[in-house]
Amino acid sequence: MDIQFDRDHIWHPYTSAVDPLPCYPVVSAEGVHINLETGESLIDGMSSWWCAVHGYNNPRINEAMASQMKKMSHVMFGGLTHEPAIELARKLVGLTPGQQWVFFSDSGSVSVEVALKMAIQYQHSAGHPERCQIATIRSGYHGDTWHAMSVCDPVTGMHSLFRQQLPIQHFAPAPQVVFGAEWDDADLEPMRQIVREHGRSLAAIILEPIVQGAGGMRFYHTEYLKGVARLCKENGLLLIADEIATGFGRTGELFACNHAGVVPDIMCVGKALTAGYMSFAATLCTQEVADVISRGEAKCFMHGPTFMGNPMACAIANASIDLLLDPSYGNGLGWQRNIFRIERIMARELAPLRESPVVADVRVLGAIGVVETKEPVNVGEIQRVFVENGVWIRPFGRNVYIMPQYVISDEELVALCDGLKAGIRFLEQK
Ligand SMILES: *Cc1c(COP(=O)(O)O)cnc(C)c1O
Repeated sequence: MDIQFDRDHIWHPYTSAVDPLPCYPVVSAEGVHINLETGESLIDGMSSWWCAVHGYNNPRINEAMASQMKKMSHVMFGGLTHEPAIELARKLVGLTPGQQWVFFSDSGSVSVEVALKMAIQYQHSAGHPERCQIATIRSGYHGDTWHAMSVCDPVTGMHSLFRQQLPIQHFAPAPQVVFGAEWDDADLEPMRQIVREHGRSLAAIILEPIVQGAGGMRFYHTEYLKGVARLCKENGLLLIADEIATGFGRTGELFACNHAGVVPDIMCVGKALTAGYMSFAATLCTQEVADVISRGEAKCFMHGPTFMGNPMACAIANASIDLLLDPSYGNGLGWQRNIFRIERIMARELAPLRESPVVADVRVLGAIGVVETKEPVNVGEIQRVFVENGVWIRPFGRNVYIMPQYVISDEELVALCDGLKAGIRFLEQK
């Protein structure tokens, strides 16, 4: 593979043109393994950024994709519809808490743009055009497009760089009481303060329910989420739950909102929706949100991407959801007990790292395992150690984390944790 051409001409995510991090050439991927051109076969600890939950080259999804391709790969969604989209919408409405309408789009970031537009159009239609700002919490991540970026953590999202152009949003500190700890109501006070001061100019509060992903890998208390939902109800704001990272079982519930029994007004799903096969997402909303938007000045919802409702993506998503919900999924355990299996093994294997002098915290929730280091890690350096130890793990900042595929075996998961430990030993010896 012409790695030099890659280094000279191709942008990779969040990297430099003059001093890029090394890239490893991949020739194929199968099950939980990523195969490099140089011969190594790595156990994948990232599920390709949390989406390839059923493993690579999955026969059932391959089959669904191939059979849909022979019928039609795409038709426009304006004025036309098809079975894969209807089936997927029926599934999503059935599985998600309280959602009745489905807007299909092409990526997570776009689904967040759609959610924010929905919230603002809803308020406009409800007679509150002045309600056009958004509140959120720090350490969040909602995507890289313009309005999505405006609700990402201001530090990691480099808001200072874009200050002149970003809309003003309101940030509460990240929740401090962690998942499963004793609840302290003071945690909600900063968000209450924002709503007291700016409530009349706010359209919605957006957050990642329970697990903050790419903004810091933090797990927060269910009472915080419940409290925010209550605040929204009492003050005429919509609650937008960004379930792009957490949806489809990752946290041990099908959707992270279920941990708190919260029904959001608008919900975004993506990533695992299409099991790592293609870029696709959806924004869901309640009947009330859809009705109010449609009675407003515009008489319709103002968005419609070219690849909206792509039949291939819908067929893949349908196969992926069928697979997940199959009672025999995950070594015959069913999806939820299978996630608990992964949780138990990671908790057991990663616990000893709490004693390491370079580690600040170890936390596990569902199929998410996080080892937080005291200092930010040098990604290029530690990644080489991971590859030498047969695993694919890509840390950011102080977070060395794994989000294994749901289909990983006990032995492979132990080997993945061993590889992670080798990386931590390397940090200790530096
Ligand atoms: C990944 C992610 C997004 C953005 O999705 P893309 O498909 O990368 O645009 C938005 N929100 C959350 C919570 C995510 O994890």
